[in-house]
Amino acid sequence: MDKQKTQRELRVVVMGAGMAGILAGIKLREAGFSSVVIYEKAARVGGTWRENTYPGLTCDVPSHAYTYSFEPNPEWSRFLPPGAEVQAYFEHTVAKYGIADLIRFNEEIVGCEYLDGRWHLTMKSGLRDTADIVIAATGVLHHPKLPELKGLASFEGKSFHSSRWDHSVPLDGQRVGVIGNGSTGVQIVSALAGRAAKVSHFQRTAQWIFPVENLHFSDEQKAAFRSDTQLLRDLRNEPTYLSNVERFTNAVLDPESPEIKEIEAIALGHLERSVPDTALRNKLLPDYRIACKRLIYSPDYYKAIQHPDAALVTDGIECVEARGIRTRDGKLHELDLLVLATGFKADQFMRPMNVQGRDGVKLNDVWAKRPRAYLAVAIPQFPNFYMLNGPTGPVGNFSLIDIAEQQWQYVSQLIELVRSGEYREVEATQQALDEYDVARIAAAKKTVFGSGCNSWYLDAEGVPATWPWSQQRFREAMTAPNMDHYTLRA
Ligand code: NAP
Repeated sequence: MDKQKTQRELRVVVMGAGMAGILAGIKLREAGFSSVVIYEKAARVGGTWRENTYPGLTCDVPSHAYTYSFEPNPEWSRFLPPGAEVQAYFEHTVAKYGIADLIRFNEEIVGCEYLDGRWHLTMKSGLRDTADIVIAATGVLHHPKLPELKGLASFEGKSFHSSRWDHSVPLDGQRVGVIGNGSTGVQIVSALAGRAAKVSHFQRTAQWIFPVENLHFSDEQKAAFRSDTQLLRDLRNEPTYLSNVERFTNAVLDPESPEIKEIEAIALGHLERSVPDTALRNKLLPDYRIACKRLIYSPDYYKAIQHPDAALVTDGIECVEARGIRTRDGKLHELDLLVLATGFKADQFMRPMNVQGRDGVKLNDVWAKRPRAYLAVAIPQFPNFYMLNGPTGPVGNFSLIDIAEQQWQYVSQLIELVRSGEYREVEATQQALDEYDVARIAAAKKTVFGSGCNSWYLDAEGVPATWPWSQQRFREAMTAPNMDHYTLRA
């Protein structure tokens, strides 16, 4: 059968101007797409790096790896970049690649429906748009998860979630309570110990802390990076980093692997060397396998928690009262500020947006049990709709920029099938998703993430919502789509 092969002018809508949305914008423009719009709910680009501004905010992935492959950055000040530098990097990249004109700020998408072969979008402002292709780049960790603590509303001091930091609230000389000891809580406590009058860190479950040195890049090093961009590319592709990622991601596939035990021994040695007090050390010692929760890299947490003005509180929170937190041992911890570093609802993705695919099928219904996507990018019944950093993609202690770039390589090939005029609709098959999911779930349960701890990696049924195979397998999967797994309609 002859297929029509006239290149079509496609309208592409990108949801969100964070790391992945910026990537999509740059790549679409480079590929010559002339009708592209990125809808961004806020007034600035940057996604999670715009929303998180808490003291101590640091990217715990090495700076030269946390960059787009096409935009190495000689200006990073440190091995682990401060959050404000990451935000500046994204703003710089948007300006340099001239994609600011693609972004419509302060436009929150509330509806996205597939009708008559096109996506119909509705914004909170009332604005409407249509698209041939939709790229959902809405991020993963952006809906704060607030704890259900008795009496929280009765607290008379200031209180906010870590991603909603109110910088008008003074810190110096204040008594600060931090609930939660994930990457966020640990960074906040490390920054505030010695600055606030008192920092009380409320820990429900101990965390493994991996030692890391956060070295500064010297002016000479930065000058060398500026004059020779190959040095930067070498740093991004630095064998130690890449082999560490490969080693780490292979190690997490088996909780009993010698590699995971080696990583655990390093972290245990770090704890033993850093915390001489036996009682405190025992409180800080986790009772589950390392990397079950996302591993925390910190150069200074153990030092911070031993500061005379810091306290680790492990007695369990009974309730919040007007003057502070009462723990189960009956003690009242008086506070001026209570920071909720309690994490995010990691299963939301595009939601609460109302996304409806073919024949009015609702994403909320399709995802009622758990968010599902074929190879983390495509959903049956949602044609020409793709996700970057969607559900079940690789997550862990490595650069999600790299993951998004690989996903773009894959998605762009599916878009090209429609652009070429060969097909009107490209849609993952239900069978492909079901087979992927069955294999994925079986493998995910065997990874260290499923080895017996609670974390944001787990779905509502306690199954890790992660890519459970090697990075190499992911790279191969993203090289080119297997067209047997897609329905193509001319
Ligand atoms: P998180 O890892 O989900 O940690 C939430 C913390 O809050 C846990 O310690 C949890 O305790 C505690 N918690 C939740 N509800 C509680 C309650 N009702 N009572 C007492 N404690 C409660 O969240 P996060 O620290 O914001 O980090 C989320 C992710 O963001 C990270 O894993 C990482 O992927 C990303 N992140 C990255 C960086 C970076 O440097 N790249 C920095 C920050 C965050 P339990 O452990 O007992 O559940």
